[in-house]
Amino acid sequence: MGDQGRSLREPEQTSSKSGDGVTVCNTFEEMGLKEDLVRGLYQYGFERPSAIQQRAIKPMVSGRDVIAQAQSGTGKTAMIAISVCQLTDNRSRETQALVLSPTRELASQTQKVIAMIGDHLNVIAHACIGGKSLSEDIRKLENGVQLVSGTPGRVFDMIQRKKALRTRFIKTLVLDEADEMLNQGFKEQIYDVYRYLPPETQVCLISATLPQEILEMTSKFMSDPVKVLVKRDELTLEGIRQFFVAVEREEWKFDTLVDLYETVTVTQAVIFCNTKRKVDWLSEKLIEQNFTVVAMHGDMQQRERDAITADFRNGGARVLITTDVWARGLDVQQVSLVINYDLPNSRELYIHRIGRSGRYGRNGVAINFVRNDDIKILRDIEQYYSTQIDEMPMHVNELV
Ligand code: ADP
Repeated sequence: MGDQGRSLREPEQTSSKSGDGVTVCNTFEEMGLKEDLVRGLYQYGFERPSAIQQRAIKPMVSGRDVIAQAQSGTGKTAMIAISVCQLTDNRSRETQALVLSPTRELASQTQKVIAMIGDHLNVIAHACIGGKSLSEDIRKLENGVQLVSGTPGRVFDMIQRKKALRTRFIKTLVLDEADEMLNQGFKEQIYDVYRYLPPETQVCLISATLPQEILEMTSKFMSDPVKVLVKRDELTLEGIRQFFVAVEREEWKFDTLVDLYETVTVTQAVIFCNTKRKVDWLSEKLIEQNFTVVAMHGDMQQRERDAITADFRNGGARVLITTDVWARGLDVQQVSLVINYDLPNSRELYIHRIGRSGRYGRNGVAINFVRNDDIKILRDIEQYYSTQIDEMPMHVNELV
């Protein structure tokens, strides 16, 4: 089933802790944005701001530090784009805002959203990501780019080693998927970049998941942030139905997937495995049996990653098998089914993975393959988010 004709619900309302006095702007006009920016938003098809946009854009564009949490697919990336476009002073070609993301695909997607939303403002935005030509990056940066969306490693390289990215006029740092960016793997790199920014730089942290330990460390580099948070039990979206299949043993997952394949005709689906090797193994095995799938993971050449992501985005490929490199942030509206071939390794990743479906109020289905050993993990997720994960019904194809 396509999603034509399917009614589009408003994304869940974000429950703002308005103890901080968060004001709600019901329209883009009320936010005091540049006229050309608002015009661009309407042309882009945005009629009203989503709940998080209603609450967090105003403080972001007023220069406050902001911690903004909202469910997956409710317009956080768009909110970042709107805010940095508003903050750009077009009289200068210096870099004024830096958005950091954990994956190249997400950084590149954000750059494209910025470029589209800022089209009428003629903003110059550049994606500064690993796996791309260094000399091209240097050339672009030296020509002057106002907004940079990048991954931490390449951005740091451009700042420190190549000195192509000048930080002196940066006013805003946005950490998208902030909990991931402040996790062990990235924390040092973020700090490396942060040290090069002017001391008064505004810091904005954005994510669907912001565990307590992350919130606790924010006082070290943020001052009096405006907080828009979501309670744990409101984090799963009603539009995404969650199921499990008791596969009992690892060896039985494959046949279960094949059975599902035959019954479920979907618009587009993402299948998550926990390792790159398993992604390769599973896709090869499915291709051997004449199923049409594509696979993507972080060991592939960037060129190949780009080609596969593009193919999936434009609907050329309908089933993508991947790792958690795809778990966060990527927006393909036609994805209506997510299969966790392996259960994710963290509660946060669960929310992000299933959030690849059900974008902006659309319906989605998440199916979890559960071995006997996994039952505890599934129950933990269910309890932690106060959500319900039922056994997959026979008629699951009607829900996708
Ligand atoms: P998130 O970052 O919260 O996961 P995105 O910013 O990627 O969400 O938005 C999800 C989808 O909703 C995108 O396709 C985006 O274009 C669309 N969208 C975002 N904000 C609006 C809006 N105010 N009105 C209509 N569509 C929107």
